Amino acid sequence: MTHDEPTGAIHVSGLTKSYGDHTVLDGLDLHVPAGRIFALLGANGAGKTTTVRILSTLLPFDSGQVSVAGHPLPGAARAVRRRISVTGQYAAVDKVLTGRENLMLVAELNHLGRSEARRRTAELLDRFDLVDAADRRAQDYSGGMARRLDLAMSLVAHPKVVFLDEPTTGLDPRSRREMWSVIRELADGGVTIFLTTQYLEEADQLADRVAVIDGGRIVAEGTPDELKRLVDGGRMELQFADRAQFDLAAGALPGAVTDDATLTVEVPTDGSVASLKALLDRIDSPDLAVERFALHTPDLDDVFFALTDAPRVPGPTSTKAAAR
Ligand code: ATP
Repeated sequence: MTHDEPTGAIHVSGLTKSYGDHTVLDGLDLHVPAGRIFALLGANGAGKTTTVRILSTLLPFDSGQVSVAGHPLPGAARAVRRRISVTGQYAAVDKVLTGRENLMLVAELNHLGRSEARRRTAELLDRFDLVDAADRRAQDYSGGMARRLDLAMSLVAHPKVVFLDEPTTGLDPRSRREMWSVIRELADGGVTIFLTTQYLEEADQLADRVAVIDGGRIVAEGTPDELKRLVDGGRMELQFADRAQFDLAAGALPGAVTDDATLTVEVPTDGSVASLKALLDRIDSPDLAVERFALHTPDLDDVFFALTDAPRVPGPTSTKAAAR
């Protein structure tokens, strides 16, 4: 592990943290290259916020080696603090102040000087699409605008590493997408982004690398595509209108997983046209009418639920296509 590199890289090995006899982090290993977007995924209580708080110097740890932006913790906490910012589920925005006043306040706290503070404030208002709302009180901002202001405030002092603890929780889909594009622009500008999220789609959309945390340890780590290759999630689901047709299809597709409560037959597939055509050819009969079919390709949901003990919540998110 190097402690003097002038980058935004993060290195963690063997990190442990307990509260009494409750072990929260049990030998965590993480390596985040500079200028990348790294997502830490885990169920509620998995230790994500604890990790962010330790890496951002807000919480002491028990053992392990930690270096953030080229400086070791806990020894160089002040140097680390000068190079990072943290925005979390609890925004730092003062709601009584306007957007501009909030930014000016942070700039002054960072000793930018009056004219540089004004320049930086104007630049960030413009970059975060807050010029029209600049002189309105933050209490009148939408959730998306408040998050953008919070992130803008965290960038006043040009951090090398930005910690984002669940940056889009509670935002509507449009505001979430706007946040994603701001986060991507930040990474394009060379800032290292360490984000935690409960949205698997968010990690898939944003992250160069994803680590899955469970029981205080990293249970898988890689690009979203590498993680998806770890699981066999590809399958075609066929649903039939009545029992007779269901039985006929189940007979024509040996090895299929059948569910007679929903009259559904599930067949593994790699998703290629050739394999889908071969599959459909086998049930191509005038006596067989498929009521509904859906093609399911592996996604981060599959990875997450295969690797952790989190209970799977049924929902439509993992179904890629459905047609009659
Ligand atoms: P969430 O998504 O719910 O925020 P998380 O992955 O961020 O979850 P943490 O907040 O890091 O989880 O908490 C991890 C575990 O540590 C939980 O079991 C939590 O109850 C416990 N914990 C956190 N802070 C303390 C504390 N100050 N004292 C005792 N236990 C704590």
